[in-house]
Amino acid sequence: MSPTHDVIVIGLGGMGSAAAHHLAARGARVLGLEKFGAVHSHGSSHGGSRITRQSYFEDPAYVPLLLRAYELYEELERSTGRRIATLCGGVMLGRPESRTVAGSLLSARTWDLPHEMLGAREIRRRFPTLAPAADEVALYEARAGFVRPENTVAAQLQLAARGGADLRFQEPVTRWEALPGGRGVRVRTHEAAYTAGQLVVCPGAWAPGLLPGLGVAFGVERQVMHWFEPEGGTGPYVPERHPVYIWEDADGVQIYGFPAIDGPGHGAKVAFFRRGTGCTPETVDRSVREDEVRDMAGQTARLLPSLPGRHLKSVTCMYTNTPDEHFVIARHPAHTDAVTVACGFSGHGFKFVPVVGEILADLALTGRTAHPVGLFAPERLRTATATSPAPSASGGVR
Ligand SMILES: Cc1cc2nc3c(=O)[nH]c(=O)nc-3n(C[C@H](O)[C@H](O)[C@H](O)COP(=O)(O)OP(=O)(O)OC[C@H]3O[C@@H](n4cnc5c(N)ncnc54)[C@H](O)[C@@H]3O)c2cc1C
Repeated sequence: MSPTHDVIVIGLGGMGSAAAHHLAARGARVLGLEKFGAVHSHGSSHGGSRITRQSYFEDPAYVPLLLRAYELYEELERSTGRRIATLCGGVMLGRPESRTVAGSLLSARTWDLPHEMLGAREIRRRFPTLAPAADEVALYEARAGFVRPENTVAAQLQLAARGGADLRFQEPVTRWEALPGGRGVRVRTHEAAYTAGQLVVCPGAWAPGLLPGLGVAFGVERQVMHWFEPEGGTGPYVPERHPVYIWEDADGVQIYGFPAIDGPGHGAKVAFFRRGTGCTPETVDRSVREDEVRDMAGQTARLLPSLPGRHLKSVTCMYTNTPDEHFVIARHPAHTDAVTVACGFSGHGFKFVPVVGEILADLALTGRTAHPVGLFAPERLRTATATSPAPSASGGVR
């Protein structure tokens, strides 16, 4: 029987919607399968805003991908008319030797990115809501800012559909397998079985169930985003005056936040970076406790004394961490001719969404990409037990 499609994409969240768009734009017959509806809040791509920045403290190797992601975000806005990226500037704050400051500076210097270093007094003068300690500094990047995740996913789904992709929602994949003899892949849902030459798996927090044969020890974490109405109103917090920020305190605790992006009454969002608790998508507790709100307000007030006025709401989300917090984007090592994976975005993937779509289309259609993705090979993370032959390298979901 001939395959029903050229490429099947599992998961139409941030990465999968980008892949579906780029694949369809290159003329592939694409089938996209999504467990929930279009643009939902059950995974990792919701909550109104995601920080974007180029002076990347995590590793300078990410910078070329960010430069391309910025171009593609602009294209996405142009071709859909949706409001997606706002470059309101960003400050990466902490002691000079903190990872947040030193790592950002390393990337800025390595790639000659425009930036300014500000001392505590200068930070207070330029951004009066911020009250850093005397020994804290900041790297200021004018081209940092935020993107809107829901609008991004909606735009990518719109373009994928416009390009002819067949997108099916509320249709969870129950199993996938690579067919022997290079005959492509078969994917099953409760509705049907589909076949294609290529499979792209973008499972978000469902990676452990859908990619058991990958040999990566994913750690799925519950994270909480909090919105506060600043004391005295949102005036000083509007994006025209207020940057995004990441602050690392002397104990290495990082928080990050945004201007008041949706106008008066909607507050400003702030969150801990990487203070999660282990969970699975099935067990994640979506309710938020009062002590979590208090904890957030307390830490926030140390840098932004006026921000934690009235608490408006808190929303949970999931990170899917790899052991080294770098992504996994590659051909599946056990199915190098037919299966491509994008997972383990470790809480910092959204700013890369459109370039990941481009990379996934390259890998699925040609087997290679000109983008530098060496850092993201899953082989670096294979666990000892997973290197022995796995009973099945395919994915099944209970
Ligand atoms: C609180 C929070 C704050 C963050 N802040 C930032 C930030 O400031 N900057 C930044 O760059 N990144 C940030 N991130 C990280 C970023 O949002 C994620 O890396 C990114 O959204 C991951 O996209 P994804 O496509 O892998 O996952 P998702 O968007 O969750 O997509 C996975 C999709 O797969 C679907 N799926 C799963 N199983 C099946 C199945 N069996 N069949 C069909 N479909 C299936 C799911 O329903 C889902 O739609 C943050 C994340 C969180 C949670």
